[in-house]
Amino acid sequence: MISVSEARTHLLSLVQQLETEEVPLAKAAGRVLARPLQARRDQPPFSASAMDGYAVNAAEVEMHAMFKVIGEAAAGHAFDGRVGAGQAVRIFTGAPVPQGASFVVIQEDVSRSGDLITITDEPGSNHNIRPRGGDFTDGQSIAAPRLLTPSDIALLAAMNIPTVPVTRRPEVALISTGDELVMPGGAPGPDQIIASNTFGLKAMLEAHGARARILPIARDTESSLRTAFELAEGADLVVTIGGASVGDHDLVGKVAQDLGMERSFYKVAMRPGKPLMAGRMGGAAMVGLPGNPVSAMVCGHVFLAPVIRALLGLPAETDQLKTATLSAPLAANGPREHYMRAKVENGHLAAFDNQDSSLLTILAEANALLIRAPGDCARSAGETVQYMPI
Ligand code: AMP
Ligand code: MG
Repeated sequence: MISVSEARTHLLSLVQQLETEEVPLAKAAGRVLARPLQARRDQPPFSASAMDGYAVNAAEVEMHAMFKVIGEAAAGHAFDGRVGAGQAVRIFTGAPVPQGASFVVIQEDVSRSGDLITITDEPGSNHNIRPRGGDFTDGQSIAAPRLLTPSDIALLAAMNIPTVPVTRRPEVALISTGDELVMPGGAPGPDQIIASNTFGLKAMLEAHGARARILPIARDTESSLRTAFELAEGADLVVTIGGASVGDHDLVGKVAQDLGMERSFYKVAMRPGKPLMAGRMGGAAMVGLPGNPVSAMVCGHVFLAPVIRALLGLPAETDQLKTATLSAPLAANGPREHYMRAKVENGHLAAFDNQDSSLLTILAEANALLIRAPGDCARSAGETVQYMPI
């Protein structure tokens, strides 16, 4: 059995960054920028007024100074002339500051009578002018790879970039296996349960930027599993759920290998999630997850999320683990790395008493996976522990 970190390293060596595609800016949020982009203009493209007021020469600004208003500059409507001595231009936010002007006296500091203004309040030292290129300059770069946020989209728009090169979304095929499974909304027989894992994993993987397809449930027969693998054709990552341990009905490993899967590893020293397998199959990476709902979801956080990041070209997350103070003691850990469902509140972490890997209600209440190293000794309240936020 290999360790969790060895398994993750093996898994990441099965995948590489996907190719790049161009998408319209309006579709680029949540995608990963694939190569650096350069601004195509200065912003602002001219020195612009930051306030509504009067543009004058800074050297003339003082209490009680008077100016003659010779014109107007509004956003989108520059004033063409020049501001001379004793002159002012009525100006509004976003308008180009006219030649000769170097200060905008805000309208609240001025009294106006006809064409004449007088500075009636202390104008202060802020010139109220945004310099040309003060936000960004022509050619300024945005580095890649970068998960594009709404703020990034606003910035790219301002840079006049209408289409964006992004990494193609990873395509994931999710296969539930088991004669006992029925889709949500179906009519389960007395000995059946609802397939939940594929739905939880789809939500998780899509939150990480993948596109996940839920395939029809494979029955516990070789032919049904073969059909499911055939339907997964074209995916970058094929994930099976269940049927991966050593029971009589656990056929995933056999069928996958019959279909040419080159196994990278099988079994990881972790709890929950020991019967995990991975390899390459055709053009795809294949991961066989254990069927217990909590095991499948924990393995999703620990293994599948990093695979999606790698396919997207994002670096491995280095700050994924956080620390908290234990609020109750913990017994010594066994020989496998344990991911305990836990709740963190205000920096204090408590593991749930019942860690059975089938309990989705407890997983849904948890916001953390407390990580216990193999053989970790008993811990007392007040000790600092590591966890993965979920
Ligand atoms: P297996 O690994 O196939 O032996 O499954 C282990 C346990 O997980 C069994 O109780 C299965 O009924 C359950 N299970 C397997 N697949 C799913 C699924 N997709 N959704 C919910 N439970 C599942
Ligand atoms: Mg099964």
